[in-house]
Amino acid sequence: MATKPRQPDRDFAASGDANELADVLNLRYGHLPAEEIIAVAIDLFDDAGGIAATSSFGADSAALLHLIAEAEPGLPVTFLDTGQHFGETLQYRDQLAEDLGLTNIVIVKPLDDALTADDPDGILHQSDTDRCCAIRKVEPMARAVAPYRAWFTGRKRGQASTRTEMPVFEAVGPRIRVNPLARWTTEDQADYMRRHDLRQNPLVAFGYLSIGCFPCTSPVKPGEDPRSGRWAGQAKTECGIHLPGLEAALPSASG
Ligand code: SF4
Repeated sequence: MATKPRQPDRDFAASGDANELADVLNLRYGHLPAEEIIAVAIDLFDDAGGIAATSSFGADSAALLHLIAEAEPGLPVTFLDTGQHFGETLQYRDQLAEDLGLTNIVIVKPLDDALTADDPDGILHQSDTDRCCAIRKVEPMARAVAPYRAWFTGRKRGQASTRTEMPVFEAVGPRIRVNPLARWTTEDQADYMRRHDLRQNPLVAFGYLSIGCFPCTSPVKPGEDPRSGRWAGQAKTECGIHLPGLEAALPSASG
């Protein structure tokens, strides 16, 4: 029988301190299979500030989105349209959403004022990738998740050295980030894609195994770390939407 959240956890989800809440939820539900984590989180947060999902519609996105569609096809799924994506990714977003029956794709863009002030020609990524990510990804992401108490991501511990200790439930300021696939391996992901015959981002066939904006994404050779194709040649390894910078950009719980 599927796990249902306990009433005290429901009450705590609505008003509890996010750090304490994340600890409780990890203890109680962090060991469950991904589909149960998703069901529990929707149950917990639906009436406790709401829950959404975020997706880049990249190389690994289809599995999480399929699980979300199975649980709640109308759940808001936020996509950050940085203005620098591959055309293939935008097309894939629309095709996959249709395949899966996802009915609530929320597209969030950078602020016009920020682009006018800092990147009027769309070439800021050539000189300052941190600033470019700040206005094209981090600020829009903070705005996208601000209306909710919690949001899902498809991140996995094995994807990057910065994620090896990543919990299933994480406090980000006053909110909770839920990573139902945290324990999944590359093989788990591939197996799920195969079993459910899920559409793949077409760029994967060309060696793009971790896909972000086109100016900052390169294909990798077989056997190379997929994320080595992101900001290749730079020390940068993350755009900032998963790091403390997001917490700083988030409005308060009442904001
Ligand atoms: Fe800009 Fe590159 Fe960051 Fe995209 S990934 S927001 S193009 S620096």
